[in-house]
Amino acid sequence: MTGDYIDSYYARTRADDARRIALDGAIEAETCVVGGGLAGLATALALAEQDRSVVLIEARRVGWGASGRNGGFVSPGYSLGLDKIERKLGAGAVKTLYRLSLEAHALVRSRADEAGIRREAGLLRCHLAEHGEGLGPYVGHMNETYGLKLEHWPRARMAEALATDRYADGAYNPDAFRVHPLDMSRGFARLAEARGVRIFEGTPATGLGREAGSRVVATPSGRVRCRHVVLACGGYVGWLDLRVSAATIPVATYVAVTEPLGQRLKETIRVSTGVSDVRLASDYYRPLLDGRILWGGRISVFHPDPERLKAIIRTDMLKVYPQLADVRMDVAWGGWMGYARHKMPCVGRLDDGFWYATCFGGHGLVATTVGGEMVASAIAAGDDRWRMLEPFGLAFAGGPVGKIPAQMVYWYLSAGDRLRRKRYEARAAA
Ligand SMILES: Cc1cc2nc3c(=O)[nH]c(=O)nc-3n(C[C@H](O)[C@H](O)[C@H](O)COP(=O)(O)OP(=O)(O)OC[C@H]3O[C@@H](n4cnc5c(N)ncnc54)[C@H](O)[C@@H]3O)c2cc1C
Repeated sequence: MTGDYIDSYYARTRADDARRIALDGAIEAETCVVGGGLAGLATALALAEQDRSVVLIEARRVGWGASGRNGGFVSPGYSLGLDKIERKLGAGAVKTLYRLSLEAHALVRSRADEAGIRREAGLLRCHLAEHGEGLGPYVGHMNETYGLKLEHWPRARMAEALATDRYADGAYNPDAFRVHPLDMSRGFARLAEARGVRIFEGTPATGLGREAGSRVVATPSGRVRCRHVVLACGGYVGWLDLRVSAATIPVATYVAVTEPLGQRLKETIRVSTGVSDVRLASDYYRPLLDGRILWGGRISVFHPDPERLKAIIRTDMLKVYPQLADVRMDVAWGGWMGYARHKMPCVGRLDDGFWYATCFGGHGLVATTVGGEMVASAIAAGDDRWRMLEPFGLAFAGGPVGKIPAQMVYWYLSAGDRLRRKRYEARAAA
């Protein structure tokens, strides 16, 4: 029973299938949010919590895009590393931005709890063996600067936790957590409705215009008249607005889920944690409660069919756990992430009353709430925190055409990773 979500483990196991009607006719609201992923939902929720009137329109189903298909790793931070943010904005701004993401992380956790979404604690970020142990200083810095409770896991602890020699050391965050992201998106939609947001599914925005001092969002069989429009369409924006679309590079990434592994799961991943490595397109995986492993990784401009995806992801898994050679992948899927050229979220205002919250890249489960809070408090209270992200801005990236250079950068970095691995293996063999 996958309805009109794409076939994924999450669509197969979602907790409920409540549907919302499509918009039919003309309505009004103070704000119209376009896009029912986590960015749109976070914006709508934050506005409703400040007693503002909101309509949210979603082209397909709530959580149909990246928000309902991802790895389910919920942790603070952004797609761009803090060192690079600091280089651009300075030490004070990077601290403020990271603290905003810590607040958003706490908000996602409390909303998930309110919506009855199960959370599993713990994420482990690893250095690959060929990079050597190097995460100790990072753990010390994050704990000291931001009061985190990260643990440094040296090689011996890593070997106890995971049945692989692929890693050197790890940074374990006991406060980060894993969720069923489609259930969480759908749960956030329920919370938004309980606070008064009107949500329409099967309702794509087909045009954005102005009429007698108001903004008008056109849909196939209706229209929303409003003061503010917030575009939150992620990597699925198409050409809805030239400036936002041209800044958005849609980048594909993949996930697969194994058959149930029974006892072998605990022999492979011996602690309850999600795992990722520090590469740009890292392998990331986690045990699922029904005894499977969910494995994700790669970035690409291509979207292979599910059978091919199963094979690709299985190959990646076997590089880390060759002992799983006989394990079958039951389901595989991909999704588009919106990336800006600079890899930071694009959050801001284009013209009076025309907002965007997009390009959360591969680290959006918390950052979307940072963006949603920024836009909502700007609309409701004139708060200008969103201007912190202005130096990044809507950098022209050619829209969908920007996929080509993105793919080349990925191939280049992957080739470097393979070379480093080969040299390491040769040294180890010698
Ligand atoms: C496979 C995968 C794994 C990932 N893993 C993680 C992870 O573990 N942790 C993490 O933090 N991040 C992860 N991410 C990234 C994260 O999922 C995204 O950053 C985040 O979900 C983006 O949310 P969004 O609302 O901006 O976009 P989306 O969730 O893509 O939502 C955009 C919505 O807009 C709708 N839309 C588009 N055009 C229109 C229109 N004209 N009218 C109305 N609606 C429209 C779409 O139908 C879609 O539902 C992953 C992403 C993918 C694809």
